[in-house]
Amino acid sequence: MIATGARPRTLPAFAAYDNVSTLRTLEQARALRDLLASGARLLIIGAGFIGQEVAAAARAHGGAVTVIEAEPLPMHGLLGREIGEWFAQVHREQGVELVLGRTVKQIHGGGVVEEVTLDDGRRIATDHVLVAIGVDPDVGWTTGVGLAAGAIATDAGGRSDAADVYAAGDAAAFHDAFLGRHALSGHWEAAGRQGVAVAHAVAGEPAPAPALSSFWSEQYGMRINYLGHAFLADAVEIDGDLAARDFVALYTRAGEAVAGLSVGRPRALGELRERLAYMTEAPAG
Ligand SMILES: Cc1cc2nc3c(=O)[nH]c(=O)nc-3n(C[C@H](O)[C@H](O)[C@H](O)COP(=O)(O)OP(=O)(O)OC[C@H]3O[C@@H](n4cnc5c(N)ncnc54)[C@H](O)[C@@H]3O)c2cc1C
Repeated sequence: MIATGARPRTLPAFAAYDNVSTLRTLEQARALRDLLASGARLLIIGAGFIGQEVAAAARAHGGAVTVIEAEPLPMHGLLGREIGEWFAQVHREQGVELVLGRTVKQIHGGGVVEEVTLDDGRRIATDHVLVAIGVDPDVGWTTGVGLAAGAIATDAGGRSDAADVYAAGDAAAFHDAFLGRHALSGHWEAAGRQGVAVAHAVAGEPAPAPALSSFWSEQYGMRINYLGHAFLADAVEIDGDLAARDFVALYTRAGEAVAGLSVGRPRALGELRERLAYMTEAPAG
């Protein structure tokens, strides 16, 4: 069973500089914690969940933090405009300098990054750069063993195309019957569930019932939970109060729920799960 996880993406332009890191390992997390405690100015590239959580941790330490995001809003592609605007506002209220729709054009400094110039000409000084632009399945080492390049595509029991080879977690792309295609999970709960599915398959038992795609995040003391496939939605309804950080965003497609994001309402998850259960029961038409 291949369960080698994922590797953070890097930016070649930053490869030659010492004060640049990614976040995946415990060692990297400890180094980052020490850096935040020292009050260093932090430049984060990418406003996905890792970038946002580190920004929140940096602000908890009182450090100056700038986040540069190429998209017009944080999580825009996955969660849409309303929730992207909400995330942007939360970080700005907490003192994060959030620069949206921009990328780094030039790096200044010898050996360490001292300053960057953005594509609008703006310059930002920093003590450390965290590159948080997503991950790729860590499967490069499997080249030449009869598996297609990239994430290991599997059925619902984790079986790959190669005989007796299974995969689970961030290295795998399980088949999602509702979407009708293989999909990366990239999240903790899915990795655990997929490991269990592989155990069932190896033992010759039927696969356990599939589960909804889900993740959680903690930022500024808020618990954020997500279920489903928001990218399928054509509308989003907010129940609650965005400003009070107490709401459920229900994503719908042709009036039917396809995903939900709850903030400060962990009990809403049970109801969301029930509304979305159909997505794990029958393939989409
Ligand atoms: C900072 C951070 C925060 C996160 N927060 C959340 C969160 O809040 N919620 C959430 O749902 N998910 C979160 N995730 C994602 C979650 O951690 C992953 O989805 C999950 O760990 C994937 O599990 P895995 O077993 O597939 O891979 P991993 O946990 O990455 O484990 C893979 C292991 O394989 C080892 N390995 C790699 N290559 C080899 C090799 N060739 N030989 C031997 N060993 C090898 C690696 O060293 C690693 O220990 C977070 C991830 C990070 C980095």
